[in-house]
This record gives sequence, structure tokens and C-alpha cells, in this order.
Amino acid sequence: MKLATKFIHAGATPDPSTGAIMTPIFQTSTYVQEAPGKNQGFEYARSQNPTRKALEEALAQIENGKFGLAFSSGVAATDAVIKLLEPGDEVIAAADMYGGTYRLFTKVFEKFGIKFLYVDTTDLSKIEAAVSPKTKLIWLETPTNPLMNITDIEGVAAISKKAGSMLCVDNTFASPYLQNPLDLGADIVMHSSTKYLGGHSDVIQGALVMNSPELREKLYFIQKSCGAVPGPMDCFLVLRGIKTLHLRMQQHCINGEKIAQWLRSHPKVGRVYWPGFEDNAGYAIAKKQMRGFGGMISFELKDDSQQEAMRVLSSTHLFSLAESLGGVESLINHPATMTHASIPREERIKNGLSDSLIRLSVGVEDADDLIADLKQAIG
Ligand SMILES: *Cc1c(COP(=O)(O)O)cnc(C)c1O
Repeated sequence: MKLATKFIHAGATPDPSTGAIMTPIFQTSTYVQEAPGKNQGFEYARSQNPTRKALEEALAQIENGKFGLAFSSGVAATDAVIKLLEPGDEVIAAADMYGGTYRLFTKVFEKFGIKFLYVDTTDLSKIEAAVSPKTKLIWLETPTNPLMNITDIEGVAAISKKAGSMLCVDNTFASPYLQNPLDLGADIVMHSSTKYLGGHSDVIQGALVMNSPELREKLYFIQKSCGAVPGPMDCFLVLRGIKTLHLRMQQHCINGEKIAQWLRSHPKVGRVYWPGFEDNAGYAIAKKQMRGFGGMISFELKDDSQQEAMRVLSSTHLFSLAESLGGVESLINHPATMTHASIPREERIKNGLSDSLIRLSVGVEDADDLIADLKQAIG
């Protein structure tokens, strides 16, 4: 099935009781049973909910996986993956990744005896060097947030298999329209559904997709035991968002390219981070494992003072100054003080995330209007 058809029909079966084409919002906490243990597969809504079930089926289909699980946020989905581990286990994680993931790993899980090693995952030899008999999980983000670094998923999957480890890829930035990590050998795909899957900046949610029935059982056990489940209304919103993912992503890609090229030609703009430039270090791999380059762009100004970055950040009108990404409307963000403030400054600088870096989530508005807005802001 082609992508557009898949996104529209994933998880959609008419409601058996009414024929409603959209899965209803089953706003219920429990289900009446005929006799103890005799029910229709639904007992209590932390364990099962029909709206969530429809969404989880859709998530599996759009990521080419067998099983999907929805969580109350992206970080709750990440949390569930780490809870597969035991004290003494080691995790190799990307040095340049979402600040909230770094915070969860270092501030919450390190104290339970799980060791996290942060490496530049774009260099496979650095991952190989970090592998030990205790490596149980490799955690990747590609493209990374906010520097858009590209890691070779197939290459890391081979290292992970050889090491007897699991590989989980945070696929939030690419979305399943542009990249499917399970097809490239990953064991688990994670999403912050808050971003492109939801697509309208109106819901917080997370997802995991996998092929292994054993892994699904373990993660489902964690989902129901720890209870970070999304409500049915939020599941409905993400299901609805998925139906237009392909249309939105096509426009994000078109606008992203126009803006990346425009920024690069602007005399006041310094380095532009976007994987679609042919001279970008990750271009060849991005071209191989992605179907497009997306609408996430970061850039620095030639005047690299934080003051000048702050001036631009507060001068846009169509780009709203806000954390988050992946919605239909364009956002502008200052990673050093906003999305990535939880990473210590020296760590950030070491990984190439400067105080003057500006990140754009390019929306699906008219690209000319977006460029005009950036033009008046940069000056
Ligand atoms: C937002 C985000 C998360 C966290 O998801 P929430 O839904 O905010 O909990 C994880 N990874 C990436 C890449 C993100 O952008």
C-alpha cells in the first residue's frame, strides 16, 4: 500500500455498534462484564480502551511494525523503554539529542544504577568503541534535535545485533512519512506524537512501535503497570492527525527546503543546519534512509552574540516563539535557554550547540510569507 493510502486508512475500522466511520472517543473508565472474567476484551481503561486500540493499530501500520503502544507523552514512552533494563545495564545514547531525554536518563534513571554513555552516534566507530558486554540498549535520534545530525540506522542496527543489544530510534523529527527505522533494523521506534503525528499543537502524547511479540508483552506490561496511558480524547486527536500526515509533511519538506536555501544565501546568516544540503556531512545517509529532509532547520547568525539571536527571536510575527515543533504553524526557538536548557552549558557547547543557535519548526503556511517574516526579523 502506498503511503498516502496507509496514513488515511491505518487503524480505521467502522465502529461495530453504529457504523461510525471515525472511531468514537470512548470516554469510560471501566466496562460492564457479563460474568466475572467474561467480557469483550475490555476490563479497565488503564489496560484497554477502544480509541487507544484503534490508534495503536494505526501506529503499528504507519511504522511498518506489528505492534503499537500509546503513552501519555513522548517522555513516558521513553521511560517505558528504559524500564526494560536492570541496574548495572549500560545504554549508549546520542550525545546530541532532545534535552528531556537527556534529563530523564541522567536525573531519573542514573540513580537506579543504569549507566548512560553519550557518544557521537554519527561516527559508528565511536559506538563500537563504547559497546561492552553490559550494553543492553542503544538510543538514537536522527535527525538530531537541534543540530540535525544524521546517523546511519542500518549501520548502528548491525552493531547493536552483534552486541546483543536493543536499538531504539526516536523518530520524532523525521516522522513515519520520511523514515521507518524498523525497516532498517531497529527493535523499537519511539515518537513524541505531540509533534508531527498530532500535527496541530493540541495534544501531548507518545508512542512505541515494535515487531517482537515478547518486546510488545514486556512494554505492554510496563504501560499498564506504570499507567502512563493517554486519554481517549487525545488518542482521537492523534488518530485524526495521522490522516493528513503525508499532506502536511510534503508541505513541511517544500517549505523547509525553500527556507534553508534562503537562509544560506542571506549575508547575515552563518551556518545553516539542514540535512538536505549536498555538502552536509549526513547528506548521503539522509538521502539513503529518508524520503525527504523535513521542515526542521537550525542556524546561527554571523554576529554570534546571544543578544543578536535574542533580537531575531523576538522580532518574528508568523514564527511564534515557543518550544515544541511539528505543528502546522511555524515556530522559532532558542535551544540554549528553552528546549535544551536542561543540558549543562559545557555539555551543550562541547556538542556544538552554541548560545546563538536558533531553531525553526517550519510550518505549512505559504513559504513566501514565512521568508518575508524572517527577512524583516533578521534585517
Ligand atoms: C518533544 C520530544 C520528545 C518528548 O516528547 P513529549 O511528548 O514532549 O514528552 C522526545 N524526543 C523528541 C525528539 C522531541 O522533539
